[in-house]
Amino acid sequence: MAANCIFCKIIKGDIPSMKVFESDKTFAFLDINPLSYGHALVIPKHHGAKLTDIPDDSLTELLPVAAKIARASGAENYNILQNNGRIAHQVVDHVHIHMIPKPNEQEGLG
Ligand code: 5GP
Ligand code: ZN
Repeated sequence: MAANCIFCKIIKGDIPSMKVFESDKTFAFLDINPLSYGHALVIPKHHGAKLTDIPDDSLTELLPVAAKIARASGAENYNILQNNGRIAHQVVDHVHIHMIPKPNEQEGLG
């Protein structure tokens, strides 16, 4: 846990979120500024800014959880995205995987 990290505060429940999954190592919630309906973030409970800062055993669940959420959302098309560093468009310095459903054009958004 890092005292000034927004995502650590979300894990603790100090900042509210729309939680979609939780286990001992992993937490997932809806993005506050979604790129499409169902845009979710999957994060390790272990705090670290970049993928390379996190121990392997805190990373193993991230993709399977993203897949579970994609399956549960019913999305047939979706993007998995993971940014590391400012130049790579990372804004929140706690590792996160985006699961972004890609709806059909006639469904709006995205
Ligand atoms: P990044 O650009 O770092 O990969 O993406 C950070 C994501 O975190 C953005 O999509 C942003 O909307 C989301 N985000 C930032 N602050 C909050 C928050 O307080 N709650 C939630 N649910 N999402 C957040
Ligand atoms: Zn954190």
